[in-house]
Amino acid sequence: MSLLNIKDLTIHFQTEEGDVRAVNGISLSVEPGKTLGLVGETGAGKTTTALGILRLVPEPGKILGGSIEYKGKDILRMSEKEVQDLRGNEISMIFQDPMTALNPVMTVGDQIAEVILRHQDCTKVEAERRMMDMLDRVGISADRAGDYPHQFSGGMKQRIIIAIALACNPKLLLADEPTTALDVTIQAQVMRMINDLKRQFGTSMLLITHDLGIVAESCDEVAIMYAGQIVEYGSLEDIFDRTAHPYTKGLFGSIPRLDQETERLQPIQGLMPDPISLPEGCPFHPRCPYATELCAEAAPAAVEVDPGHLVRCLYCVPGRKEEIE
Ligand code: SF4
Repeated sequence: MSLLNIKDLTIHFQTEEGDVRAVNGISLSVEPGKTLGLVGETGAGKTTTALGILRLVPEPGKILGGSIEYKGKDILRMSEKEVQDLRGNEISMIFQDPMTALNPVMTVGDQIAEVILRHQDCTKVEAERRMMDMLDRVGISADRAGDYPHQFSGGMKQRIIIAIALACNPKLLLADEPTTALDVTIQAQVMRMINDLKRQFGTSMLLITHDLGIVAESCDEVAIMYAGQIVEYGSLEDIFDRTAHPYTKGLFGSIPRLDQETERLQPIQGLMPDPISLPEGCPFHPRCPYATELCAEAAPAAVEVDPGHLVRCLYCVPGRKEEIE
């Protein structure tokens, strides 16, 4: 059984300007011990999806439909107390920006120990011992437990966030662009550490990123998100070796490759559509180099092109695929 199973999740923000359609009927699952990469540009709905899993979508956001089953139980139908018990304990989140995720007036040791005391049945002494163990695991000396966040560099703050997220040995980690705010030189180190700790603890992960290099190193399965929909979904090999959707092809065309000689990169033209007024038909059609008149009229359904490889494109179906190749 999947650890997390999302079906037809829809999340909109009702604003004065109109209905912001952030997440539009997405379905995905995370298997025990595995990592699913949720990939897309800014504004695709990735972070809103993660906040939806924790039922932390900020106002005026509303979860309008679908289900989020965790260990077979729908989080959307749990009581607030049940969800609070899940957060930070069974399901943890690493936020994008370590600068704002830590409490500036609390020592880092107290911030880690607080999570352990809140969720685990243990004494203060035991919580402190575990806090020191977590600091050690993320490569920070336990001597620094009494220091405040401002006394650490950006990379070390992110390590502390990771220690807090893993302090209660969660089953599922939601990592939202965990290395984006860090210097390039330490991004790889921090990502390696997350993957090592994930293996040690046997944690599953939903990894939100726009970086296909990180996906290649860390993920077992990949969901490509565009305008609040998952447009391609499959194993790492499906996405990297048997890329089908024009948007995914565009993402690969925008990054330099060491194994290929490329004179010019081919970025995807145009911008992500405004979620208040999404285009009719296929939401990618204004930017798609293969778009036809039909694409502006008919919204493509997700089609299984190979076992477990789903694509949402009118032409990525047997018999029509050659039309866009
Ligand atoms: Fe492009 Fe049409 Fe496929 Fe959409 S349905 S991705 S516009 S070819």
